[in-house]
Amino acid sequence: MEYLENIEEPTQCIHCKNWFELSDGYESVKWHPEITICNNCNDAETKEMEIDEEVEDLKSDLEQAEYTVVHCRKRLKELGVTLPETKAEKWDKLDGEIGKFYANTPESSEEEEGDLLDIGEAAVRAFGYL
Ligand SMILES: [Zn+2]
Repeated sequence: MEYLENIEEPTQCIHCKNWFELSDGYESVKWHPEITICNNCNDAETKEMEIDEEVEDLKSDLEQAEYTVVHCRKRLKELGVTLPETKAEKWDKLDGEIGKFYANTPESSEEEEGDLLDIGEAAVRAFGYL
């Protein structure tokens, strides 16, 4: 505590437990709202909040981009434009085809029964290998 002698208002940081001059501290926003924390913790908190903000911005941008793609594809199809299937569409179609083999069909129904060979064939067809 010897180094505290030159500090007028020694304050222990609630976050890291180090001592600092109260007037050199910063008000915490995220970790300890309305409590003054040390400069080092303020820097770390600020960086964390910047990353949080970037993550939210990126999520928002991605959500907007997904909406734009879906909206544009739908409208182009309405206008009669033929578009190549997206990976998601191929995947969903394949999911439906494979799902038929595992569907809750009555035991007596043999129409949609298939073995792993049939499922594999459906998969390679879905992705254009056959
Ligand atoms: Zn601290």
